[in-house]
Amino acid sequence: MTCAIGLFCENCGAETPESRFRLKCASCGGSLDVKYDLESMKNKLSESFFQSGSGSVLKQWLDVLPINNPELIDKIYLGEVETPLICSSSLGKELGIENLYYKMEFTGPTLSLKDRATSLCALKALELGYDTLCIPSSGNNAASVAAYASKAGLNAVVFIQKDVSPAKVLKIIAYGARVVRVDGDISMASNVCSEMLEKHRWFNCGGSNPYRFAAKRTVAYEIIRRLGGLVPDAVVFPVGGATGMASAYTGFVEMRTMGMIPSLPRMIGVQLEACDPITRAFDEGSEVIQPVTIKPSISDALKNTSPFQGKQVLKAARETNGMFVSVSDEEFIRTIRLLATKEGLFVEPAGAVSVAGISKLLAQGRLKDVKTVVCMLTGHGLNSPQAAIDTEAIPAVIEPEVSAVESYLKI
Ligand SMILES: [Zn+2]
Repeated sequence: MTCAIGLFCENCGAETPESRFRLKCASCGGSLDVKYDLESMKNKLSESFFQSGSGSVLKQWLDVLPINNPELIDKIYLGEVETPLICSSSLGKELGIENLYYKMEFTGPTLSLKDRATSLCALKALELGYDTLCIPSSGNNAASVAAYASKAGLNAVVFIQKDVSPAKVLKIIAYGARVVRVDGDISMASNVCSEMLEKHRWFNCGGSNPYRFAAKRTVAYEIIRRLGGLVPDAVVFPVGGATGMASAYTGFVEMRTMGMIPSLPRMIGVQLEACDPITRAFDEGSEVIQPVTIKPSISDALKNTSPFQGKQVLKAARETNGMFVSVSDEEFIRTIRLLATKEGLFVEPAGAVSVAGISKLLAQGRLKDVKTVVCMLTGHGLNSPQAAIDTEAIPAVIEPEVSAVESYLKI
């Protein structure tokens, strides 16, 4: 029995029955959010919170997710499990952080954080009788939706921005999705996807889907469980549309409300200098996020000029003594290399910005006295290998002889 009560409008409070699911409130056009019975959730979690930890992430977190038909989980299961939380070997010490943890969100079945939420969206599409999934995406979400549609026996139509890395496009095509490559950025892909929904009964798995938001809360629960109930001093997120940071914040707030944790971690968001409307609003002390003009960057992700959850993450950062910072291409490329050579972790540009951001804040003296920090690593390096290819020399060809190898290795 789920602890979810139903879908309610964040603006006017009206309830939308699941059987008449839509992305916006029919009364006022406001966003919809899943509400929960936290008393009932608290009772269920008190018995199981530190015990579970293997198998489908949806099965593990049935108590905190809006799932009515758990028997459908196996129909969408691609191996999405709790992602590892590993401790840094060397970068943490160099940065002066006693316990620097990496939350390995890039280990999902399609090599990015998107699978955590797409799995629930695919399940809800089955529960509600849809036959087609759709999504506007900068690449990783499209690949994730394509894979889960394939597994669930659903169709997939994905709308991607013009400059998606070839590796991501090939992955999406391999899963068999219909790919619409839009002449524009993610906002334009999102607009045309929304217009298509007015004519077609498709299930949009995008950032405004309340089930995407609901699923991403579980990352907060996993962090607290893996740390044995300890609240980290700070959690650091790469921020584009901001759903990941906003939903994790909701998860932490729920746990505090239920008395599971005594306080909230400082919520720190990191954007690209190429597109950083939220950092600008934070620095200006403004609650209004002004669209920005996107500058060139080798990252194809995190370039959202009108972040859907922008206001929520500004509030999260301000209420937790957190902050926002932006990093340059040079800074995240250096971090990709450091993570690979010092920690054995190969991530894409978007996956490296959390570590690049915390390094910058510490170097600038803006962040002090943090002993335990969790950085979200969100996408595998193979999703955008050009970030490494463009900066690393391809080795010369050597004769297959010991003397030639020793000479080459200078040993
Ligand atoms: Zn409403």
